[in-house]
Amino acid sequence: MHQEFWTSCWIVRHCGLTLSMGFGHRNCVVLGYPNNGQRLGKWAATTCELHGCNNGSSMCDCQPPFKLFPFPTEKKNPERRLQWAKNISRNSLNGTLWMPNKDSRVCNLHFVDGEPTAETPDPTL
Ligand SMILES: [Zn+2]
Ligand SMILES: [Zn+2]
Repeated sequence: MHQEFWTSCWIVRHCGLTLSMGFGHRNCVVLGYPNNGQRLGKWAATTCELHGCNNGSSMCDCQPPFKLFPFPTEKKNPERRLQWAKNISRNSLNGTLWMPNKDSRVCNLHFVDGEPTAETPDPTL
């Protein structure tokens, strides 16, 4: 699974895929969930039948199939960032707590309300 994740990440970074909305390098960091920027990019590159233009473009206000939320920043909310990391608890190779990087995202599937809210700001798996 690790291998797969990093391989797909590598492909997105280095194969020069043009992803119209620049989601390409962002992935839901929860293992086993395929929601990533590549899928969002594909979605944005297909035509919305309802509005007759590309999904997510200015003429189309359709919602994307999923959303990717960035981690709270180290500067603004280190406690929350740590809490998210703990909740996601990916084991890193050397046994230390895994921490997100700037491209790490969590998709809406992991939030009780479908997004971080005041009541449930942290992802649950
Ligand atoms: Zn639309
Ligand atoms: Zn996810």
